[in-house]
Amino acid sequence: MNNVIIKFMKTLVKRIDRNKIDDDIILQAGAILQRGGLVAFPTETVYGLGANALDEEAAKKTYEAKGRPADNPLIVHIAELSYLDKIVADIPKKAIELAAAFWPGPLTMIFEKSSAVPYGTTGGLDTVAVRLPDDEIARALILAGGGYVSAPSANTSGRPSPTSSRHVEEDMDGRVDMILDGGSVDIGVESTIVDMTVTPPMILRPGAVTKGMLEAVIGEVQVDKTLLSECSIEAPKAPGMKYRHYAPKAPLTIVEGDIKDVVRAIKQLAFAMHRQGKTAGIIASSETVSLYTSGIVKNIGTRASQSSIAKNLYKVLREFDEESVDCIYSESFAADGIGRAVMNRLEKAAAHQIIDAAEVVKHQEYRRVVFVSTSDNCRGPVAAELLRNQELLQEYVIESRGMIVLFPEPPNPKAEAIMKSRRMTLEGQEAKAFSAEDLDEDTLVLTMEEPQKWKIITDYEYVRHVYTLGEFIESGEEVPSAHGQPLAEYGKTFELLKGMIIKLADKLNGAAGEK
Ligand code: AMP
Ligand code: MG
Repeated sequence: MNNVIIKFMKTLVKRIDRNKIDDDIILQAGAILQRGGLVAFPTETVYGLGANALDEEAAKKTYEAKGRPADNPLIVHIAELSYLDKIVADIPKKAIELAAAFWPGPLTMIFEKSSAVPYGTTGGLDTVAVRLPDDEIARALILAGGGYVSAPSANTSGRPSPTSSRHVEEDMDGRVDMILDGGSVDIGVESTIVDMTVTPPMILRPGAVTKGMLEAVIGEVQVDKTLLSECSIEAPKAPGMKYRHYAPKAPLTIVEGDIKDVVRAIKQLAFAMHRQGKTAGIIASSETVSLYTSGIVKNIGTRASQSSIAKNLYKVLREFDEESVDCIYSESFAADGIGRAVMNRLEKAAAHQIIDAAEVVKHQEYRRVVFVSTSDNCRGPVAAELLRNQELLQEYVIESRGMIVLFPEPPNPKAEAIMKSRRMTLEGQEAKAFSAEDLDEDTLVLTMEEPQKWKIITDYEYVRHVYTLGEFIESGEEVPSAHGQPLAEYGKTFELLKGMIIKLADKLNGAAGEK
């Protein structure tokens, strides 16, 4: 890629109101296009980098400004259907039907080109891609610019496409003559591309107009098979689809599977980064965003609305470039409707780095450790705090419970004194009673002494994973209560627990390390 573009232009940024378009600004922008300059403008999909599509030199400038490989053809934007004739050699009947159904709108069609279209615009191909956008500003500009405006997404090649004029400025300031700022775009992912030169017509890039929508109008539509299988060795039919694209700076990994597993796996992966002193970015949804405890978490939208996710996708990817994250983990989203386009872009952004959540979480036997003592005001809370201070390879919820707890009592003052002398604290701890809820599949229950264990085993049904701490770490020691005894006894209990918890951490880490 050509990274040595020198900033040389003064870029004008003009705010423009879609509901009250300022003709003077449009004329000024149109004049720039007519004399071969570059104008970035909003469309309903993403911001476009506009140039006169019939001017070979303007196409060259476009590639330069984007740092885009010149074999990646541009889409020609028109403002009225009648303009199609001049640039295409043949208009199939099905194309007319699709135009009637989806233009203006997020659909690009590929035709045999006419001689009016220079090879500079089509990346050397004999075909031309054409779209009629559903955006008043875009259409006014296209007409003012001469009727044929090539407009790739207005981002530096490889970066996420721009969905606001701020994104365009980030990438294009100094490289284009003018940016029309029309606010945020509506859809957020690029148009669906359909090749009309083959039978049946073929989807080369998924977008807001889905296969089902196309087939409802023209019958059978095929899908470029390189879009379906990530390890396909064939080159995609749309040349632009072969590049790593839409990509944030930090490496992105998609975690797929059952949503519960996905959240667990991402928590675990983010936690692993945290332990190495690194920061993970997390792409979450409204439904899951509050479940993450480490990393920089961003909400991409609600799973109830695929279009909300499409709209936020590139914004979120760009935001991670401003945070210093070392890697990004993304949840995966349903690939139906516009979700197919979202997953297609996300997979490209991730360079097909996709992992199975079930594989990540299957080795973790326990997710929660509960220490059980008599009244949950000394031994249990101390054990829990000691474990929280260990280097653990996986994330656990660590808690304590008591067998006899009538009130949410604060910790024993002598226990707290011992903790303070070791630069720790039990502050905020309140005694809680053990209950059947502590006996789920994922929880490891560790009691201080045998009688607590047996009481649980006899009092509850469905008892799983209940051990004394000494039994679990195979030392056999009991942890006696220091209740009512001098401070020194509390100190001894602390030391005993400390040694045992170190062994417990080793054991938990050992199980995690056996992967
Ligand atoms: P962008 O302008 O950034 O949305 O990218 C345009 C996309 O359209 C790229 O993926 C191109 O490869 C594709 N495209 C443009 N013209 C053609 C064509 N004649 N044949 C196949 N794909 C095309
Ligand atoms: Mg693009």
